[in-house]
Amino acid sequence: MVVGIMNPYEMAIAQFDEAAERLGLSQAMRAILRKSKRELIVNFPVRMDSGEVQMFTGYRVQHNINRGPAKGGIRFSSEVSLDEMRALAMWMTWKCAVVGIPFGGAKGGVVCDPHTMSRNELERLSRRYATEISILIGPNSDIPAPDMNTNPQVMSWMMDTYSMHMGYSVPAVITGKPLAIGGSEGRLEATARGVQVVTREALKDLNMSPERCAVVIQGFGNVGSISARLLSELGCKIVGLSDIAGGVYNLNGIDVMTALRYSREHGNLHGLPNTEHITNAELLELPCDVLVPAALENQITARNAGRIQARLLIEAANGPTTPDAEAILYARGVTIVPDILANAGGVTVSYFEWVQDLQRFFWEEDEINRRLELIMSRSYRAVRQKAEEQQTNLRMGAYLLAVARVAEATEIRGVYP
Ligand code: NAD
Repeated sequence: MVVGIMNPYEMAIAQFDEAAERLGLSQAMRAILRKSKRELIVNFPVRMDSGEVQMFTGYRVQHNINRGPAKGGIRFSSEVSLDEMRALAMWMTWKCAVVGIPFGGAKGGVVCDPHTMSRNELERLSRRYATEISILIGPNSDIPAPDMNTNPQVMSWMMDTYSMHMGYSVPAVITGKPLAIGGSEGRLEATARGVQVVTREALKDLNMSPERCAVVIQGFGNVGSISARLLSELGCKIVGLSDIAGGVYNLNGIDVMTALRYSREHGNLHGLPNTEHITNAELLELPCDVLVPAALENQITARNAGRIQARLLIEAANGPTTPDAEAILYARGVTIVPDILANAGGVTVSYFEWVQDLQRFFWEEDEINRRLELIMSRSYRAVRQKAEEQQTNLRMGAYLLAVARVAEATEIRGVYP
């Protein structure tokens, strides 16, 4: 058994292989779906504020585009690697298929530490990276979105760069934009709103009432911080939170609005009044009913899975649980709502944003949230039903649904020429 950190691509392949085996896919179909369709590596210079020129490496990987144009976020992090991009692109393919939206999977990223860069440096990096990957991206071909350490401002620079090259505005080339340039109502909260819907449904299935649930959330960025707010609105008590600087906890409950304000003012949660400081590793093992990893991959491994106390694990982040950790959690009776379902709210509203941009016709926030709620609750039920039918867990239920849909599209389109 592999203990500890796992290459995310190996993890994605292992999950796919199991689903392919259960579905009885042909060897040819397995070979097609195991590989990325396109992998672009770009090395490019950026002029830093000091005047010095620094080289950066970026990626854009498209996994499968048989169900529609490629879709997937852009990540800025020193951890970005080709294998990470391949895994995340493959997970995007399954995610879009699980919720039934007509996109294929992609992912992009730049190896950099955005926290050490100025706003001007980040703008130059974003614009040059957008230029470098413009041979792939476009409103009909590949539509990026925000991910770790990228935000609506980065999306705006990339949309503007692409539009400058075309000579006219192309809002549909990217999602997660501000409202002023064709963004969608509800996009900022969308991933967390999806997390809220699946948590509510899973708690119902477990006969647990949100008012009696203690929740721990790792990561306090877009997904983690808004999930904290929306889960506390659902009635849950938030007892632990964290960001890259470490964790804070109070078993009597943390006021999320105070935490949001504090984090905005101080840049992180360290020193939040009425809380104790803990490490990110300790945070995951706190006594709680629901654990929501909302930061990065490989957080719950064979090393700590035996000490996780939650009954319900909601994978808001992509790939937070390794397969060997998962086996330990299942043996201990933990329910896991898998990433490709739990965090699909983001790509669902990204799809709404793209549709609105293409039609130049914008919907009210109520309409967005109503449609998101419908898609997330329907997808949760379909996954649960598949898992029950096949006597398996929710992750395999989601994979069986998703991989079958992508395989069907790939089969129907046939092998060209
Ligand atoms: P973000 O950059 O807004 O926030 C990331 C958070 O994680 C920050 O609070 C950061 O301090 C924390 N963090 C970073 N490294 C950490 C570490 N080593 N230990 C603990 N905390 C750490 O990113 P985000 O958009 O909220 O994305 C979070 C996760 O959700 C990622 O896995 C991403 O792929 C996934 N996701 C995001 C979206 C979206 O719409 N933004 C959609 C689907 C999935």
